[in-house]
Amino acid sequence: MNSLQAIVFDLDDTLYAERDYVLSGFKAVANWASLNLGIDEERGSATLCNLYHQGVRNNTFNQWLAIHQIENPQVVTKLLDVYREHAPTISPFSESIDLLKTLTKSYKIGLVSDGYLQVQQRKWAALGLDHFFDAVVFSDSLGRENWKPSTAPFKLVLERLNIAPEFSAYIGDNPLKDFFGARQLGMSTIWVKRSDSEYGNLQPPGLAYHPDLTIESLSQVLELVV
Ligand SMILES: [Mg+2]
Repeated sequence: MNSLQAIVFDLDDTLYAERDYVLSGFKAVANWASLNLGIDEERGSATLCNLYHQGVRNNTFNQWLAIHQIENPQVVTKLLDVYREHAPTISPFSESIDLLKTLTKSYKIGLVSDGYLQVQQRKWAALGLDHFFDAVVFSDSLGRENWKPSTAPFKLVLERLNIAPEFSAYIGDNPLKDFFGARQLGMSTIWVKRSDSEYGNLQPPGLAYHPDLTIESLSQVLELVV
């Protein structure tokens, strides 16, 4: 990968632990529920965390309210708003900062991140990494149809970096969507596959979804590119 001039990163579970965002959101929800529904904040927060650790993902708030004997779809909608609109308490992996400090000396640095625009913007503000980056693309700003695995957000980040795809690499954690679009354009792709991450145990759904390289920690990127 000697010819690389730019390195583009995914955000969630690549530069910080997405689990920390979820737990931060749960705290905000438990706080709101204590003020508005009379659910004890500490107990409510603990119950939410338990559901998460049990593997519940898609209907957490329905299940949580049922545990507290509340069945009201409007409350679920409100809890989702509180979750998505909260100002998160999250930090980058320490290895992210070490890596970015080194890479910025020799490479242009970009970000391509999926998710609701304002949610991702709030995460980005909380992480304090912006000064390392030459171009930041939240795919949602291009419309839901241009979330990964679309090639569109990758095209845009490369345009803003003014770098051709073959001189760039994308680093992400989710084989279902992180490598397909980047590969189609001709970018190199690197899977940071942490054993304890949300998508670390998934398999790419086809050859076109495979990364060029797989590593277990971001710190290994330096061995590949510097
Ligand atoms: Mg990710």
